[in-house]
Amino acid sequence: FYRDEFTARSAAVRVRFGAGIRKAVAEEIKALGASRALILTTPQQAAMADEFAALCGPAAIGRFTGATMHTPVDVSEQATALARELGADVLVSVGGGSTTGLGKAIALRTDLPQIVVPTTYAGSEATGILGQTENGVKTTLTSPAVQPELILYDAELVTSLPVGMTVTSALNAMAHAAEGLYARDRSPLSSLMAVEGMRAFRDSLPTVMSRPDDVAARGQTLYGAWLCGTVLGQVGMALHHKLCHTLGGSFDLPHAETHAVILPHALAFNAKAVPDLLAPVSELFGHDNPGLGLWHFARDAGAPLALRDLGLKESDLDRAADLASANPYWNPRAVTREGIRGVLGAAWAGNEPA
Ligand code: NAD
Repeated sequence: FYRDEFTARSAAVRVRFGAGIRKAVAEEIKALGASRALILTTPQQAAMADEFAALCGPAAIGRFTGATMHTPVDVSEQATALARELGADVLVSVGGGSTTGLGKAIALRTDLPQIVVPTTYAGSEATGILGQTENGVKTTLTSPAVQPELILYDAELVTSLPVGMTVTSALNAMAHAAEGLYARDRSPLSSLMAVEGMRAFRDSLPTVMSRPDDVAARGQTLYGAWLCGTVLGQVGMALHHKLCHTLGGSFDLPHAETHAVILPHALAFNAKAVPDLLAPVSELFGHDNPGLGLWHFARDAGAPLALRDLGLKESDLDRAADLASANPYWNPRAVTREGIRGVLGAAWAGNEPA
């Protein structure tokens, strides 16, 4: 992965890893010099807020269980008002990317430190990126102000992730690593992490699919999530992410499922331009075409394979191709409307990527 010239960035993040490590949350709050924690979750994970309130002890001064998809600004402002009213001095975000997003949005407005306890593989906890929506428009910013200070990766908390979400969330994470391999601003470190992150998922996902409560295998998947999320925080993304952004934003397709379907096709498309950079993916998944290798892996893991199964109509494909090719962006292979239409058509039908 050596390059003649590169710039490497890394954030000042403390990471603790281990089954049961959530029990260290009270001591970590203290270590941050804090004593008034606001606990954040989604409504679906409200029971998790109760567990964390108990773990935080007297430092738990409140909870907000209204985190939701796409980090709507009105929800963030409501939660920020609660944090101010309670005099919170630290945020404890327990959940997936939606909950982490809410914590980041509050941190942006208050500069409060964040402890994140991830329960999916999305990887947001490892980045300084925040996507927010207001009046149906999603904007993304990158700032050290939203980068969480501490991550507690506890494999016991992902055993409850349903099998379907497990596989789509894993592929969502792997997409960050895969696109990281050809990013213009990649460094030897980001590429090493990308390959190791994908390897961790390749080795552990089949076990997790058959034994969802296997804590050792879940630990491996969380390790993959950390590495893939860290890659996302360090380098820029390309075709795959732009396509998913268009499909999610304009056609309301579900986030992680869309990533799972598009990734093999986007990689097959880009592999024609940068086969050498994607060779590690070919090696990991045992096909000369890295997209095809990943497609087989996804299929064997029971991932969705077709956009039509996610609710996209065939008649939407042309508009999707128009939208996805309207604003030019960097990609290792020239992005044409025709090329994008081809990728979308194959992904819609669920064909093997060519
Ligand atoms: P999510 O956080 O929306 O979670 C989906 C649902 O699963 C929620 O109801 C949640 O409560 C539930 N859930 C989460 N963990 C669970 C568990 N262990 N057991 C049972 N239920 C559980 O989904 P996500 O895929 O983690 O996050 C997606 C969001 O994160 C998107 O909005 C995406 O844009 C954002 N994201 C941001 C970044 C970034 O760097 N800013 C990175 C990745 C994803």
